[in-house]
Amino acid sequence: MECPLCGHILPKDADACDQCDWVRTDTETAEGKASDAVAVMLSVIPGLGHVYKGYKLIGLLFFFGAVGALLAGGLAATATAGFGLFLIPIYWFAVMFHVYGIEDRVASTVQDEGEEY
Ligand SMILES: [Zn+2]
Repeated sequence: MECPLCGHILPKDADACDQCDWVRTDTETAEGKASDAVAVMLSVIPGLGHVYKGYKLIGLLFFFGAVGALLAGGLAATATAGFGLFLIPIYWFAVMFHVYGIEDRVASTVQDEGEEY
């Protein structure tokens, strides 16, 4: 095989190039990291980041969960003089944290095809 960065001829199953900084990354590619960032940004609307990563059902659950969190936070806010509003950003943070951590179903299939050049 050739090194995808510098074209140096490498052993067939090489994990890294000895001529440049290329390293084989099966689990985390540059595209994977980029899509993590996009998914987190999309999670401004809770669930959208999950849908983007291919988790449609979980995304839907998080979306309705956010509606519930807004209602619960609003109710808690009236009962606790505004303190309940802290629940909402905590929920948002939890959704973003989760979408960042889960495996990217979409990118992993694209990546598999890309490996077989
Ligand atoms: Zn190289």
